[in-house]
Amino acid sequence: MPTLRKAVARWRAQGERIGLVPTMGALHRGHLTLVHLAQRRANRVIVSIFVNPAQFAPHEDFKTYPRTFAADVRALAGLGADLVWAPNAESMYPGGFATQVVPEGPAKVGLEDASRPHFFAGVATVVAKLLIQCAPDVAVFGEKDFQQLKVVTQLARDLDLPTRIVPAPTVREADGLALSSRNRYLSPAEREAAPALHRVLANCAREIAAGASIHSVLRKGGQAVESAGFILDYLEARHAETLAPITSIAEGPIRLLVAAKIGKTRLIDNVGI
Ligand code: AMP
Repeated sequence: MPTLRKAVARWRAQGERIGLVPTMGALHRGHLTLVHLAQRRANRVIVSIFVNPAQFAPHEDFKTYPRTFAADVRALAGLGADLVWAPNAESMYPGGFATQVVPEGPAKVGLEDASRPHFFAGVATVVAKLLIQCAPDVAVFGEKDFQQLKVVTQLARDLDLPTRIVPAPTVREADGLALSSRNRYLSPAEREAAPALHRVLANCAREIAAGASIHSVLRKGGQAVESAGFILDYLEARHAETLAPITSIAEGPIRLLVAAKIGKTRLIDNVGI
């Protein structure tokens, strides 16, 4: 932490703009485009790598979450990132740690929070800490985690943090599958089936844009996700800003969001209409 603070203080004294890209490591091309975007918005870029125990439920994959630190640092050095901030759990949550940021609003709309009730308190607490530690002018978050992006934007606004939250579009494989550190859990057969998630989203978006009933489009879309071999968690149309449920295209800009499990792997994705 003293090294981080010294670097940040030096850059600030020189009037440099600082960007932060928070990650849990196991970096892929999606993360790297976030770094590129941060480099366009700031002249110093910090990438944090921290697999945050506070956002995993006991039955989730904290222990087995992929960790590829050496390769991550090599990739970031190749991109010219200025600093990798990789604190350990003991320094983030030392004995006696007793404060949590518990977000409401977009964190309580019944999407990710429905099946992961403690997730956003874990995310909001660690993101608040990272934003305070790194004091960036901008922080880049992926639209891939659309609800998280909304929660973090709200958090920065509500806590008067002087950081602009910048959204980054989702980076996909050629077949449409959104890049995710968890994709490496997929068996070859699951990997082959997985692009169905984005295909269904894209079809639903096209049909809704053409005027079809949201309710019936989503019902058929849910069936298509399940026939591709997934267990559907949710497929929903929400207001793109508030994440409130939406039943007609006249109610505002729409975001379609999906979460589904294939084998043991839970995947999420979303598209705008
Ligand atoms: P994670 O390491 O999964 O916590 O993700 C770190 C950041 O990268 C988050 O802001 C994610 O939304 C973003 N991200 C993850 N996957 C992608 C992707 N395929 N395209 C763009 N951003 C992504």
